[in-house]
Amino acid sequence: MSITNNLHKITQQINDATLKAQRAANSVTLLAVSKAQKINHIEEAFNAGQKLFGENYLSEALPKIDALKQLPIQWHFIGPIQSNKTRDIAEHFQWVQSVDREKIARRLNDQRPDELPRLNVTVQLNLFNEATKQGANTNELSELLAFITEQPKLELRGLMCIPPRQTKPELQSEQFNQVKEIFDFYRAQYPQMDTLSMGMSGDMQSAISAGSTMVRIGTALFGERPANWKQQLQNQQV
Ligand SMILES: *Cc1c(COP(=O)(O)O)cnc(C)c1O
Repeated sequence: MSITNNLHKITQQINDATLKAQRAANSVTLLAVSKAQKINHIEEAFNAGQKLFGENYLSEALPKIDALKQLPIQWHFIGPIQSNKTRDIAEHFQWVQSVDREKIARRLNDQRPDELPRLNVTVQLNLFNEATKQGANTNELSELLAFITEQPKLELRGLMCIPPRQTKPELQSEQFNQVKEIFDFYRAQYPQMDTLSMGMSGDMQSAISAGSTMVRIGTALFGERPANWKQQLQNQQV
């Protein structure tokens, strides 16, 4: 299957899931996760109509963003954020989905260039307090959201979550439903929150049925990532 065919298939699946959940057409956006993917693959997806792309690692993302700067791509940063990386993120991305603490939000705000529009931000929620995952815990969320709304160069857009993998579909749906409840709770307070980013290649349908507005898809669009790509990336960084 080509990337173009995959994109059409995923778009169809999103539309079907949206319809099945009795939600408005086009209420779910596709973010193409292009980590580990070559520039020509990103171009192919772009030429097939995909405009939003997500990257996890700066050292990998910056050369791609530069190589593709003629294309009107909207870049989303979705990986863990170290504080020494915030300047490059603030300068080169339109969205950051993985904000998880005040220090990072403050730095992104301070380092966002004045000539650029506000940086769109979602807070990554670590709903189940998983030690291996980034994200704010539920008890940190209220303060962090309030802090972001006070930053003049940040635009609070919503929440992002990667719930733990579940083999039982009911458990998976249950987790997505919990995230949606928290999202709705805060959206009542901050109506500008229009984005609930949850669902990946393996669990897109149940995320959409729970109310996701953005699914982040890598493998189903581009194919499996090379097994050693993370290691290659680390070698480059040394
Ligand atoms: C890699 C990644 C994805 C995409 O995962 P697939 O299973 O390849 O669709 C989505 N979100 C985040 C945060 C990721 O790191």
